[in-house]
Amino acid sequence: MGSDIGPSPRLAVGIDLGGTQIRGALIDETGAVLHRAVMATAATEGAEAVVAQIADLAGVMSREAPSPVLGIGLSAPGPLDAANGIALATPTIAGFTDFPLARAVEARSGLPVLLENDGIAAAIGEWRFGAGQGADHMVYATVSTGIGGGIVSDGRVLRGRMGMAGHIGHMTIVRDGALCACGHRGCFEAHASGTAFLRRAREAAAGDPPSRLQASEGALSAASVFEAAEAGDALAGRLVEEEAELLGLGFASLLHLYSPQILVMGGGMSRQFARLGPLVEAAMRRAALAPFRAVPLVAARLGDNAGLVGAASLLFEADRFSRGA
Ligand SMILES: [Zn+2]
Repeated sequence: MGSDIGPSPRLAVGIDLGGTQIRGALIDETGAVLHRAVMATAATEGAEAVVAQIADLAGVMSREAPSPVLGIGLSAPGPLDAANGIALATPTIAGFTDFPLARAVEARSGLPVLLENDGIAAAIGEWRFGAGQGADHMVYATVSTGIGGGIVSDGRVLRGRMGMAGHIGHMTIVRDGALCACGHRGCFEAHASGTAFLRRAREAAAGDPPSRLQASEGALSAASVFEAAEAGDALAGRLVEEEAELLGLGFASLLHLYSPQILVMGGGMSRQFARLGPLVEAAMRRAALAPFRAVPLVAARLGDNAGLVGAASLLFEADRFSRGA
């Protein structure tokens, strides 16, 4: 090996498996997305159907590649045993219980597969190529329908037992609180995710105080609540402030736990970062111990591509290690 070092960058396939969509991309080692495609996840058709979809997408990406790809970096919803390539208990995809996902995709695609929990994959993407570049200590939090994340500490990715570290959405922040998708109550995700925000907005819009939110009831979205807040609607403004308080509370715990230099916020709710970000940062600082208050909260830079790029980049690292460099 080593004789192939030349001007053309190495290539890998990144796959981001979600409960509703599977997205695939051809990625080079600078983090550039050269080609991409998306399909609806066959989430109810069994594990082998999803494996076939992943292999098909990888095949499309391989055929677009000007040189052979190193393999597939697969980002998938947890919890999964990333070290052994096993989907342990993914509630959104049928058949993903103790399922040897990496091995099944390898068999079907003929390519090496590295599996990563989706929060960690996105954290790696933002760390290597996005908002966290150059940081030795970084926390990435994705706030979307759920809350997930990943941690870089002392210059390396924190994976923990079975590669499951960083399930930050399931920190309990309220005893006997709101019911979480995981079955427990009071999780950070159950109170501060985009889903929880929208639930509070719907409840508030159904209540008494006159608000623009009532006009859009039914078609209410997170974006429409932020728009109303921007237009001076008092109820919408209070909902945004409450969301910021909840996120700030959880993020302050992350500062205390991991002492990052930077906290990066991604996911659908980060599209509202212009208004939400400064409020969350202020709430985080109020809840943090004094020595932690200088840590900045910044918006993720790679958007939907963070997981794809992060997962694909695992292949470049694995390749480097196997060469002994
Ligand atoms: Zn939970």
